[in-house]
Amino acid sequence: MSFATRDGSAWIPEYLTVIDGETCIGCGRCYKVCSRDVMHLHGVDDEGEILGKVIEGEDDDFDGELNRMIMVVDNSGACIGCGACARVCPKNCQTHVAADRIAA
Ligand code: SF4
Ligand code: SF4
Repeated sequence: MSFATRDGSAWIPEYLTVIDGETCIGCGRCYKVCSRDVMHLHGVDDEGEILGKVIEGEDDDFDGELNRMIMVVDNSGACIGCGACARVCPKNCQTHVAADRIAA
């Protein structure tokens, strides 16, 4: 598979594959710059277990078990590999894989 920009120049997308839940601070910067709805905030309990997706506008403390929130890549197939999320992350907790090195 080959990729190119509009003028035909070679370009390799870098797909977001995973976010490290230990180092992510749930700041939301990646979510704000992503045009593809690839990741969402999730609640995490004291043991680091993911409680579920945080729904915008809903005041959900997950029955009092909420410890913190992290960003989770839960729609990875929609990523176009633009790299915008990597540029804004303050914690360097994202893993991106080049399109020519990823399994379809
Ligand atoms: S690389 Fe681009 S499309 Fe993919 S998750 Fe990051 S911002 Fe969204
Ligand atoms: S920008 Fe980085 S630290 Fe902030 S929510 Fe996204 S992955 Fe987590």
